[in-house]
Amino acid sequence: MSDVPHVSETVALAQSLIKRRSLTPHDEGCQDLLVSYLSPLGFRTEIFCETGTINLLALHGSGRPFTLFLGHSDVVPPGDESAWKYPPFASVIAPDDSGRCMLWGRGAADMKSSDAAMTLALRDFVAVHPDHFGTVGLLITSNEEGDGAGGIKNVAAKLKTMNLVPDYCLVGEPSCNAVFGDTIKIGRRGSLTALITVHGVQGHVAYPERLVNPIHHMAALISALQEPLDHGNDVFPPTSFECTNLHAGTGAENVVPGSCTLMCNWRFNNMQSKDSIIAAVDCCIEKLKIKASIDYTLNGEPFLCPQKELCTKLQQAICTVCGQEAKLSTAGGTSDGRFIAPLGTQVLEFGPCATTIHQVNERVAIADLDKLKEIYRLLLLKLHA
Ligand SMILES: [Zn+2]
Repeated sequence: MSDVPHVSETVALAQSLIKRRSLTPHDEGCQDLLVSYLSPLGFRTEIFCETGTINLLALHGSGRPFTLFLGHSDVVPPGDESAWKYPPFASVIAPDDSGRCMLWGRGAADMKSSDAAMTLALRDFVAVHPDHFGTVGLLITSNEEGDGAGGIKNVAAKLKTMNLVPDYCLVGEPSCNAVFGDTIKIGRRGSLTALITVHGVQGHVAYPERLVNPIHHMAALISALQEPLDHGNDVFPPTSFECTNLHAGTGAENVVPGSCTLMCNWRFNNMQSKDSIIAAVDCCIEKLKIKASIDYTLNGEPFLCPQKELCTKLQQAICTVCGQEAKLSTAGGTSDGRFIAPLGTQVLEFGPCATTIHQVNERVAIADLDKLKEIYRLLLLKLHA
């Protein structure tokens, strides 16, 4: 008897994808491989290439409802490859410490397994229901983990002009925590980054009367910014504020510098906006009577999926396959779902366990992959058959 388990088609496809070293924004043939499963079923495919990013759109059927599966073929760098138990692009299947059979490699959880599961779910659904209601499709970008240039933001604008706005979008990002099937992401917080420079008057440390110390002012400002902006609501946690970098000093022990620079980030819920946060910062600066200049970068607006038919049907599919009720969550970072939600689309995220994403020894339980494909297939069945 061999120790090598039976490898399902979903696991085998995920393995083939992981073997392609598709570091952002490279695709390394991942999308072509997915197309080879869909084209024989009559999917219409279109490739949008922009600024080095490749986006694949594959559609079947016509009219409404329109369900779009959304994913990415790129992965984050593996880091020090010698720190991995198995080489990050070797796609090894081997047990973990608890004896569970795992697929190891960069992208195993984020998110090549989901790409495989979504593709095969679409193929199997269309094979049995070639005359299904509405439109079903797959959208895969090669630049989700990077700056997103030429990625889903651009494709979303194109979908709008092509009059192809999805009714439902399921993002296959890893969403589960302890156990597969435990969590659906129903929204994401927004993200706002600020680079704040507090200006003072530089001078000799022994003559405080001649200087304005920007480090002291920055300390007071950071303290003021840590006051909670809100306490969250029934779907979102409170808005968070974190400092990520602080810099000041000329290098001399007897010189007070002329400025101090802080980088910080808010993850904000749907009770806040870019404008409300800027107003709160301005208010602190005014109260403290300090001189500051600020550059803001809005990385994403918060979004929340209404708990309507997509959510109900996905919960039912998960319950059928996993025998448990998935919790609805808005935790975690942003995702490409933020570019689709403003189109008026119901956007949810459901994928494998996120425990090892972006880490050394990223891995996913192979038993979860067939369940994942089955959940995606059941969802298509409920929405389009
Ligand atoms: Zn991802």
